[in-house]
Amino acid sequence: MRVVDLTYPISEDMVVYPGEPKPMIKNVNTVKKHGWCEHSISLQTHIGTHIDAPMHMLTKGKSIDKFKPEHFFGRAIVVDCKEKEITSEPFKKAPIKRGDIVLIRTGEMKRIMRRGISLDRQPHLTLDAAKYLAAKGAKMIGIDSTSPGDSKYNFETHKYLLSRNILIIEFLVNLDKLPQQCHIYAFPLLINGVDGAQARVIAIIR
Ligand SMILES: [Zn+2]
Repeated sequence: MRVVDLTYPISEDMVVYPGEPKPMIKNVNTVKKHGWCEHSISLQTHIGTHIDAPMHMLTKGKSIDKFKPEHFFGRAIVVDCKEKEITSEPFKKAPIKRGDIVLIRTGEMKRIMRRGISLDRQPHLTLDAAKYLAAKGAKMIGIDSTSPGDSKYNFETHKYLLSRNILIIEFLVNLDKLPQQCHIYAFPLLINGVDGAQARVIAIIR
């Protein structure tokens, strides 16, 4: 068995979406002075490896705490999507079954960690592809990029997937270390009433 960590570590100098504040991690208590060590963390919900809940894009969408733990692990199918416009074609060649988690491997995250985010370069999952994944019964999708589709497209992919309670994992790393099939565990922090949360995402390869 092999374990691969798909999580982008949180730090004050990490790459964040343009316009978002970086995390603030402050040491508020020390063993020497207070008897214990403790930090205060200020972090927006869509920084680093995180999961989008429907509330992120839909006024009546569910918040992240409304999903049961069963939603956050399962069989994953990794699909290579090298084109900037991701159509349904690459997914048609993949053995996706109902209840799978589909991981979209674009390679973009490696470039982001070296050179930062360039919004013009971000891959875009077409609405047609999102519809295909929903029809196949994917319960969650993940991508090694900032997002499956941004404001240029009026967030249509986000809205379509989230309206069907298909959650989206963003900012994944190390997808290049995965075979086509594995199991993933992606548990977001259980924070009540928020639109998404950071998750430690790992893959198990047997
Ligand atoms: Zn997000």
